[in-house]
Amino acid sequence: MALRQIRTFDDEILRKVCKPVAGVDGHIRQLLGDMAETMYHAPNGGGLAANQVGILRRLVVADMGEGLFKLVNPEIVEESGEQTVIEGCLSFPGIWGRLKRPSHVVVKALDENGKPIVLDVTGEMAKCLCHEIDHLNGIVFTEKILEYVNIEEIEEQE
Ligand code: ZN
Repeated sequence: MALRQIRTFDDEILRKVCKPVAGVDGHIRQLLGDMAETMYHAPNGGGLAANQVGILRRLVVADMGEGLFKLVNPEIVEESGEQTVIEGCLSFPGIWGRLKRPSHVVVKALDENGKPIVLDVTGEMAKCLCHEIDHLNGIVFTEKILEYVNIEEIEEQE
């Protein structure tokens, strides 16, 4: 496995729509492994989409503290509720903002062996998967920020 370079800010690949993966093979597993390693290597990394490391494929890795998920062709098939969240992004270091996300989503995907899986998640994981699937559609979280926040002030309050 290898660390991949994270694309940032105005890099145009962050605004491109990623293409579906036709078959889950060793190459895809390698990419997912590299993405996970890159995510864990970065401070505050909770999720990473393939275009953030320069690959226009519908691949996501996520770990919000409940274990690692490697998702191929993830798709939101159901969403409900609303939550106000604070988000950052490995492609926008130093930027944090408050925005609204569904509080509950159901996501269909394939795992790294090509097996269909369904994730029914709420709270932080729902926020994370919405953020990452937005990336696959060329949407970055700064487009949705309602209010920029100073994360240091917030951590002091907690
Ligand atoms: Zn992001």
